[in-house]
Amino acid sequence: MSKMPEELKVVNIVAAITIGSKIKKITIHNLCMSCCIARLNFEIKPFEHAVLQLSEDNGRETPSFYAPIKITIETVTQNESDPEAYYAKIKFNGIVTANQGVVQSLHSEKPSPDTQNHTSTKDTTRILSQGATNSPSKTTSGISASKLNSVSVTPVRCHMCSQKKIPFWSLQNRTMLSKTNIFGVSSYTEAMPRRDFCDFNLIRVIVCPKCFFASSDILDFKKENGSQGFSRAPFDKKAISKQWDKGISARKKLVAPHLDGFFDDERNLEQALLSYDLAIITGDEMFKSDEMLDPKRRKYHLARKAIYYMMTKAELLINNENTAAAEKILQDVIIRLETIFPYLQHEPSIRAGFLLGMLSLYFEDYLKLGQYLTFLREFNKDGKIAEDSEEYKTLSTSLKKLDEAYQNRAEYSKTNLTRFEKPF
Ligand SMILES: [Zn+2]
Repeated sequence: MSKMPEELKVVNIVAAITIGSKIKKITIHNLCMSCCIARLNFEIKPFEHAVLQLSEDNGRETPSFYAPIKITIETVTQNESDPEAYYAKIKFNGIVTANQGVVQSLHSEKPSPDTQNHTSTKDTTRILSQGATNSPSKTTSGISASKLNSVSVTPVRCHMCSQKKIPFWSLQNRTMLSKTNIFGVSSYTEAMPRRDFCDFNLIRVIVCPKCFFASSDILDFKKENGSQGFSRAPFDKKAISKQWDKGISARKKLVAPHLDGFFDDERNLEQALLSYDLAIITGDEMFKSDEMLDPKRRKYHLARKAIYYMMTKAELLINNENTAAAEKILQDVIIRLETIFPYLQHEPSIRAGFLLGMLSLYFEDYLKLGQYLTFLREFNKDGKIAEDSEEYKTLSTSLKKLDEAYQNRAEYSKTNLTRFEKPF
């Protein structure tokens, strides 16, 4: 299934990136335990393996660094108003350790030298980190901070209609206790001390108030205030714009009865479910942007966006005692995922195989479960996947979990589960 979106914290950290024999300085703008977003003043290609080191004493002329982190550069984008900069989404390969500085950077209360420069207009991250801890007030970027001290806000812009100052909410790290269902979808149970409780699944999807473009991934939006932004949409905007514009009035009609508070950070269940429907529509349109392409070249991974939203929607429904509606969604997920499954490769293929296996298990289709288990067992038959790669780790974890579930299959069937969770 689709990878969970990272809960990125706004930071401003100098770091060193080593690519081959070259070491360069970059700035990390957003960080979580598994990835970061960085500004670079040089061009870089996605999917390149490299090493990152966060600075211990941010901003000094000769900073010292934490232990290196092996990384994969997932995406690189540029911003029209900052043409010399590149913005990279960087994934950490494996779990970060205590000496690599990620935990320290995420929990540092001390503002970095850059965040103290209150007059900088380039520095949206400063505004955001202020917004994250304050009570509701207008930030200098013109958007309101969240009423919840567990939620931070980033202003973003809509790629499809250029709507400005859309608040993008992120759950701050270590603010909420969460649990994961058998399909890997998180739900939130309790707030950490001195933090406001937020059922983040209710507000995870950000919706453009003008054209109703909806996504929970900040990289699907264009960031505000120039230099921090992602200028290019990660989908073919031109290919879908006509169809997208045509659909605005229909989407508007969907939202109209639920408008009160819909664009706020305290949605009710009905509004949340609607936000997921809009995200599924958006995800499907993004995938359609590739429809003209040769099937071999289509970005089938984009079709997995909708799967992720459907699975979260099912989790929300089952947590609100609507088992029938939740299970209907799971059945729809099986149909959709089976359609794209043959076209997926690498990690997306492993994740899809795992999810299809778990769904088969839930519906007690043990024949299919066996097929997906075999698929995972034979995925690296030729031993071509490097053992230190993310793909290898995903395969090992998925295979172990699905195998364990298969051995104890009676416990995982719908008749024995409480909601989508195993009883203790
Ligand atoms: Zn829009």
